[in-house]
Amino acid sequence: MRAIRSERCAASDWNACARSSESAAWPQFAERADKEAWPATRFLAALAEHEIAERDRRRIERHLAEARLSPGKTLDTFDFTAVPMISKAHILALCAGDSWLEKGANLIMIGGPGGGKSHLAAAIGMALVEAGWRVLFTRTSDLVQKLQVARRELALESAIAKLDKYHLLVLDDLAYVTKDQTETSVLFELISARYESRSSLITANQPFGDWSRIFPDPAMTLAAMDRLVHHATIFEMNVESYRRRAALQRQST
Ligand code: ADP
Ligand code: MG
Repeated sequence: MRAIRSERCAASDWNACARSSESAAWPQFAERADKEAWPATRFLAALAEHEIAERDRRRIERHLAEARLSPGKTLDTFDFTAVPMISKAHILALCAGDSWLEKGANLIMIGGPGGGKSHLAAAIGMALVEAGWRVLFTRTSDLVQKLQVARRELALESAIAKLDKYHLLVLDDLAYVTKDQTETSVLFELISARYESRSSLITANQPFGDWSRIFPDPAMTLAAMDRLVHHATIFEMNVESYRRRAALQRQST
């Protein structure tokens, strides 16, 4: 599954016209076709190509809005030198999506606060949307709350099924979920439902050894970790807080 991005469809025939209008591009095409004596086939091909590119652009715009990514947290604004254990080339390869989203594999980012996990997760999410995938970025605790409401309304299964439309679910701050048994079981059900079919990107401040505090029942902790880690790329981002480091650098200059 790969979307054709609008800029890739840009053809010299309609490039100039396409910039000026979205909904009614055809009069400009017609005018240019008249002026340059285009044959009908060229006119129709240019119009069709423009329409396809416009649809792609609108779809990606819609998917970007639904993804709820934090504005400004992109790959361009991410300083890879701050996390030497992360290879930019590896991240760029993951941003194509095909190699792991099709298998429902996961990404897990672990490290102390401020190390750039949420930023990098949002940046990957945005790149994936631009490549044609559907993504939802959410704080884990917010999603757990919504799923709990669904469970009370006896609609947990359908609420989890609705999330299937997202090739990637970013569960930000897994560790901040409260330790209440009911909450953890909706999270467990979500993890189980997506296992080997849909991908998740999880960020957590706590190392795996502390995940027993997220899932207080040891059997559930093991089962959840087993499913998440089975097909996962794990990034350990144990670096000093980026902002703290930036502040210290400013002081010393
Ligand atoms: P975490 O999720 O690991 O706690 P965040 O991603 O929220 O950390 O990062 C905290 C702040 O520092 C954010 O404003 C983020 O944009 C910025 N930041 C962290 N790491 C980087 C980085 N490598 N490059 C640019 N900004 C960064
Ligand atoms: Mg974070």
